[in-house]
Amino acid sequence: RPRIGVLALQGDVREHLATLARLDCDPLAVRRPAELATCDALVLPGGESTTMAKLARTFGLLEPLRAAIADGLPVLGTCAGMILLADRVLDAAPGQETLGGLDVTVRRNAFGRQVDSCEDVVEVAGVEGPVPAVFIRAPWVEEVGPDVEVLARVGHGPAAGRVVAVRQGPLLATSFHPEMGGDDRVHRLFRDLVPARS
Ligand code: GLN
Repeated sequence: RPRIGVLALQGDVREHLATLARLDCDPLAVRRPAELATCDALVLPGGESTTMAKLARTFGLLEPLRAAIADGLPVLGTCAGMILLADRVLDAAPGQETLGGLDVTVRRNAFGRQVDSCEDVVEVAGVEGPVPAVFIRAPWVEEVGPDVEVLARVGHGPAAGRVVAVRQGPLLATSFHPEMGGDDRVHRLFRDLVPARS
């Protein structure tokens, strides 16, 4: 069983751990570099991306996380986690840092006031049938690099067509919160990207 960590500095860590507990894996809350080093994959939860990045720096995790991503660690980033994975951020806070690795440009808090937070369903490539999608002051993806696969777009409404799930090799990111929809299929999709332990 692969060990899948959840970065546990801030955000909805418990919801991810609970979702992972339903899969064939060994979930672990990660607060230190030594814990990160034992993980076969990692989830960056939703929350507040600037706070999470600052805490990662304080806890000495920023560089280990960047190194692990560069080394091919499979990572699922949801909402704030998507922002942390992004190489480029629009409407970033002053001085906001990311981990990077995912060749996309995201816009923070992109949906605007009218659809600030909402529940919807989206079609996700690789998942059969509609997936519940909870958006909370969510980013969307404005540009993707050549190696990035678009997995989901908003289906209707003012944000129709906006990209809300992407994959680049072992990196998967969603604007929405798959850990809050009571559905574990996005986590399963991620779990299937994690190579078996040798
Ligand atoms: N707006 C938050 C940020 O910029 C993300 C919101 C979320 O993760 N639900 O980090």
